[in-house]
This record gives sequence, C-alpha cells and structure tokens, in this order.
Amino acid sequence: MGKGIFIALLNPAISAIFAGGFFLLWRHQRDRRYIRVLAFSYLAGVTGFLIRGVTPPIGGETAKLISNAFFLVAGHMLAVGVVGRFGRRPPHLALGLVGAAGLSGLSWFLFVEPNMTWRIFSINFALAAMSLIVVAEIRSAPRKIFVDQVLMAALLIYGLSFLVRPLWIIAVAGAPGTEGDVFMSAYWISTSVTHAFFSVLIAICLITGIALDVIGKLQSDALNDPLSGLLNRRGFEERGREVLGRDPAGAMPVTLVLADLDRFKDINDSWGHACGDCVIAAFAGILRDAAGGEGIAGRIGGEEFAIILPGNGLASARLFAEGVRTSLGVIAIPGMPAGTPITASFGVVERAQGDSLSTLLIRADIALYEAKHGGRDRVVAMPDRMGERRLRRME
Ligand code: GH3
Ligand code: MG
Ligand code: MG
Repeated sequence: MGKGIFIALLNPAISAIFAGGFFLLWRHQRDRRYIRVLAFSYLAGVTGFLIRGVTPPIGGETAKLISNAFFLVAGHMLAVGVVGRFGRRPPHLALGLVGAAGLSGLSWFLFVEPNMTWRIFSINFALAAMSLIVVAEIRSAPRKIFVDQVLMAALLIYGLSFLVRPLWIIAVAGAPGTEGDVFMSAYWISTSVTHAFFSVLIAICLITGIALDVIGKLQSDALNDPLSGLLNRRGFEERGREVLGRDPAGAMPVTLVLADLDRFKDINDSWGHACGDCVIAAFAGILRDAAGGEGIAGRIGGEEFAIILPGNGLASARLFAEGVRTSLGVIAIPGMPAGTPITASFGVVERAQGDSLSTLLIRADIALYEAKHGGRDRVVAMPDRMGERRLRRME
C-alpha cells in the first residue's frame, strides 16, 4: 500500500471504528444522548475524509467545500457531545457562527480569490475556535474526574495545534501547491497524523469516562434504595463499618437508632400500597434531614430504618429520635386524610467497647422490641449494660 493511500485511509478508518463504538455504547446507554452525538461526529469525520481523499473528486472545488463542511459539522458535534457529557447546554450559536465563518472564508478563497494558504487558515482557525469554545465551556463544569481533565487538556492542545501547526508548516515548507501533491504535502501529512492522534486520544478519554460513569452508577445503585433515597442495607452496613472502623478504640461516642413504622401493614391495607410507599419516602426524608451530613441513614428493611450518629451520645441520640417521632406526627401524605395517625417506634443504643455493627444492631433491635411492646410510638434508649444482660438471656 502506497504511503499516500495509507495517509488517506488512516483517519476515515479510525473515525469509522470510533463512530461504530460510540453507536454501540449508545445502544446500551440510551439515556446518555451525548454518546449518539459523538457517534455522529465521528461519522461526519469519516464522510469528510472520504470525500476529501478517497473518492474521485466530485468536480474538484465543490468536493473540497463539502468535505470541509463535514469537518466543521464533525467539530460542532464533537463540541456538543463533549459539553453534553458535563450536562451543559451546547453553545450552538458560538459554534454555528465559527463554523459559518470558516466555511465562508473557505468558499471565498476557493471560488472568488483562490488561495490555498488562506483556505487552510480558514478551516483550521475555525476548528481551533471550536475546540477552545468547548474547553471554555467545560472548564467550569463542577463534576470532573481525572479522565475529564485529560480530555480537557487534549482538547486544548488539539485546539492550539489548529492555530500553530498550519502557520508553522506553511512558514517552513510552504503551502501545498497543485492538487496532485496536496496529499503528500507536509501540511496534509501533519494534519492527518495530528488528527489521528487526537481523535484516538479524545475518543479513549470519552469512552473511559463513560465506562467510569456507568461503573459509578452501578455501584451507587447497589448501595442506595430508590424509594427512600437512603442507603440500602448493604450500603448502610458498608458505611457503618467504615465509620466504626475509623475509631476502633471508641474514643468518640457513636450511637445507633433503629426505627420501625408502626402497624404499617394496616396502613397498606387501609390506604393502599402506593400510599404506604409515600409514607416510607416521607419518613425517609425526615430521617435524612435530621441526620444531616454526619449521620448515616439507611432503609434496612421494608419499613425499618437505621441511623448511625457519629459523635452523639445516648442522650442526644434519644433527642434525635424524639425529634423524628414528633415530626412524623404532623406529616401530610397525599391520598391519606389529614390527621391519619402515622407513628414509629425507635430503639437507641450507644457503642460500647467491643461492639461491632452487628452487635450494635442486635442491641438496638432489643430496644426497638421494648418500644413496640411498651405500646409503640415511643423511643427506648437502652444503656449498654442493660442491653448486654438481655442479650445474654437470649443466648
Ligand atoms: P409493627 O408495628 O409491629 O411494626 O407492625 P407492622 O405492620 O409495621 O409490621 P409487619 O412486619 O407485620 O408488616 C410490615 C409491612 O410492611 C408488611 C409489608 O407489606 C409492608 N412493606 C414492606 N415493604 C414495603 C414497601 O416497600 N412498600 C409498602 N407500601 N409496604 C411495605
Ligand atoms: Mg412495622
Ligand atoms: Mg418491621
């Protein structure tokens, strides 16, 4: 294969592979619509390169105009796809203006005052501006993982390369002259190699970013409960063990509150399962607000919740539970008449020496059992000695 053909096929092949890859990814992640835009961007790139390099010229100048229009569309869509990844609104106006300016310059220097150097500048400067618009747009995006920083750096360098490379190459090697030697010119070879490198780098950053987002979402789904918005049992145990493990000697007080909605079966039976779900969500909201940033709240069973309060002793944890209990008395649930009693019982225990999360949960369950048997709608805070005695009796 001749060097010219290799150069001509390098970019369409790379772009086609990534267009296909993004389409496949999007088919499995349809809610991430920016992935589809990225696929179209790479597809527009393939089309531009094929029209430019492989097909016989469709009447010379027109083919150049069309292929460059595809490059600008590819740049525009890449920009939209990248900013979409960061949840930003695409800067269509700025991108459109830059694209129109590039295309107008190109047309002028193709048809009105033919000039290869200025044609090259028109298209390259427009693509530079597009890259820099994206960088400016995502620079202030709050959510950026490491691979996003690499993506931003790649886009910045790529953007700058569109400014510097043509100026430098044309200064050193001169503008490509006749059509025949354009594809073997220093300008075209440097363009092809630079584009190949950055299109691979940018695609890999994006694919890695998408993969990490999906992994993060799966991990979060595995640890969170969608109905309550709290941690699920697994998430609660993981976070709880982490907090207890941070202070194995127990220098800081830690309390556990176990809460169970009272006669919840009756609520479901009287008002329907959907109303029951609303009660669970509302109660979870109260717990989340009360627990604040420090507390760890989880829904560990159907209508059973657990909250770890680091830095709180038994007295303040009891106050916490009383506060939640009182708030629950005044919540309004859609579909249930105002004043319908909704109550919960609470068991509160403090970590004692040697307590693990499991032993804390067992002791809190004993306290909760007391609260249920004492008539429900109450808080039982159990000092650890008493809890231990009962635990021994149960063994
Ligand atoms: P107690 O005061 O002794 O706790 O009585 P209870 O009726 O609350 O307890 P029980 O364990 O007998 O019943 C719990 C009910 O919670 C049974 C189950 O249908 C309901 N439940 C569990 N998960 C959900 C859920 O996700 N949504 C709804 N609506 N109900 C649920
Ligand atoms: Mg219950
Ligand atoms: Mg229960």
